[in-house]
Amino acid sequence: MRRPLIVGNWKMNKTASEAAVFTRDLRKRVPVSPYADVVLAPPFTALESVRNALGPSSLISLAAQNLHWEPYGAFTGEVSAPMLRDLGCRYVIVGHSERRTCFGERDESIQKKVLAALKFGLAPILCVGESLADREAERTESVVTAQLSSSLAGLPTQDLATVTIAYEPVWAIGTGRAATTEQAVTVHRSIRLFVETGWNSESASAIRILYGGSVTPQNIESLLASDAIDGALVGGACLNLDSFATIITFAQRPRA
Ligand code: PEP
Repeated sequence: MRRPLIVGNWKMNKTASEAAVFTRDLRKRVPVSPYADVVLAPPFTALESVRNALGPSSLISLAAQNLHWEPYGAFTGEVSAPMLRDLGCRYVIVGHSERRTCFGERDESIQKKVLAALKFGLAPILCVGESLADREAERTESVVTAQLSSSLAGLPTQDLATVTIAYEPVWAIGTGRAATTEQAVTVHRSIRLFVETGWNSESASAIRILYGGSVTPQNIESLLASDAIDGALVGGACLNLDSFATIITFAQRPRA
């Protein structure tokens, strides 16, 4: 049984001090539970204060929102996997649609980032998803499959076991227009099939596939009701304590 995973992507929000206050408040609101994993992805500048606010034995893990594929060097403004590990990150988001659309990230660099994350002990959360034009042209499956093919090309089975895939339709991110559970389930099933075909059925049944795109306390229950959806990558709603705590609490319910 795959344990649900809820990831809060803070994007470019919260100073280090605001992040510490929010994290301490969240810890008070969210009970310790074996039924779901929770991950916070603050901006780079707040990673240390969130780590300190979480404390050494916290069940909430830390993620970065991006990384560079080289471990060090002349790459002004970039942050590497060893730097993130040293700060206490366990996960890193790779290929978020805002990185693709605002900063021109391509599948080739996303693949290098996935490999760098794995090499230095970070678990990549690989984001894939189609634009509205792709969906309207019925290209959803082919676009998502192409993104997965190039980003995960040649990955050994034991490395794949550390990867989480986040299906995030671009038209649903930050728009208030979430995919329906049925739309998400259809794509999640095709992603699982892709993994089964490319690797094997054990990998396909073990890999966690999250949904992301306007997840709220109102739609999380319906999304998690499907066993094809293993959790959520949450943007806007994770910035609000009540909303995020409610989403986590739904995920922590024992699944049938
Ligand atoms: C995201 O940032 O990955 C995201 C899904 O944002 P939102 O929940 O605001 O749509």
